[in-house]
Amino acid sequence: MKRIYLDNAATTPTLPSVLKEMLPYFSERYGNPSSLHSFGQEARAAVEAARARLAGLINCQPAEIIFTSGGTESDNAALFGVLYANKSKGDHIITSKIEHHAVLEPCQWLEKQGFKVTYLDVDKYGLVDPAAVKAAITDKTVLVSIMHANNEIGTIQPIEQISTITKEAGVLLHTDAVQTVGQIEVDVDKLGVDLLSLSAHKFYGPKGVGALYVRKGTRLEPYIRGGGQEKRRRASTENVPGIIGLGKAAEIAKAEINERVAHLLPLRDRLIKGILDNIPEVILNGHPVQRLPKNVNVSVKYIEGEAMLLKLDLEGIAASTGSACSSGTLDPSHVLLAIGLTHELAHGSIRFSLGRTNTDKDIDHVLEVFPKIVKKLRQMSPLYKK
Ligand SMILES: *Cc1c(COP(=O)(O)O)cnc(C)c1O
Repeated sequence: MKRIYLDNAATTPTLPSVLKEMLPYFSERYGNPSSLHSFGQEARAAVEAARARLAGLINCQPAEIIFTSGGTESDNAALFGVLYANKSKGDHIITSKIEHHAVLEPCQWLEKQGFKVTYLDVDKYGLVDPAAVKAAITDKTVLVSIMHANNEIGTIQPIEQISTITKEAGVLLHTDAVQTVGQIEVDVDKLGVDLLSLSAHKFYGPKGVGALYVRKGTRLEPYIRGGGQEKRRRASTENVPGIIGLGKAAEIAKAEINERVAHLLPLRDRLIKGILDNIPEVILNGHPVQRLPKNVNVSVKYIEGEAMLLKLDLEGIAASTGSACSSGTLDPSHVLLAIGLTHELAHGSIRFSLGRTNTDKDIDHVLEVFPKIVKKLRQMSPLYKK
């Protein structure tokens, strides 16, 4: 059976050309970049070349990039780093209710340490209102953290408008861009952000490596202390192969970005239309236009996300759900509840996230199989009375 991977928001495969560049840094080029001998210098040069490549993708200076272990660490480092560096200035953070757990959990922990957090509501499409950001800013506000695009529903936030407000107020702006870097254009100057998180494995690089962009002059307490790596901003011997992979993935993304968008948009829109036209009582979650080119998220009435996911998997189709069990908790996705879905609709959600190798044929297959699965499951559902 042909397997179709439609879970690219969860992770993506490392491209063969990325892996190829990484491999020598596990074996023959094993130097520690901090070593002064030739082995070390070889590794140092490769790390700095990767930093320049990544800087090219997001339009920043190489010195503004701190390599980390991934998106989660970057988010934690941004929040803790900024709040602790600015303790004398204030203690207030503004974020949204639909952030990734990598932002929400640190925020909740910061609250326990005495910091104040405002969690902004979103509208039915998942959009944060820039006016609400403005209204929430006080003279104690230090940081606003709003994600660039949501991983579940794909909604892209008006970060440019939000940054106009934070600049005016003299407040720092962080964005979790893990879902957008390598997927759509991300330019730190156009966005106007001071800090930005990204992760390699979401755009065809390896897992366990990411970066935090920190605009020059931004004060940041290190999140991991120890040696003097990353200009004393992030201790620990560099993950050299991972960083090389991140750099290569960034170089490829920069070259391919327009192609990626142009390839995915028609596939996404055909899948959305096909589902809405062929299955009754289905709603699209997220913004109809301001959404990631890869993201399709729908709620199917009367049935469970898990059930759909498992039936799709039997047909070789890999998707994801915001429903309960898959996340190991009883509550459905906080994102789906925040956009106003009932528990029932939130439990009936399914996300398809497309990638660079998906084809029209893959969409044909989903559109052939998925309506049949829904029909069968509804026939077994006690909620379905038709
Ligand atoms: C995947 C993801 C993260 C976490 O990144 P990791 O590299 O897996 O730690 C954070 N934020 C968003 C929006 C994500 O999609």
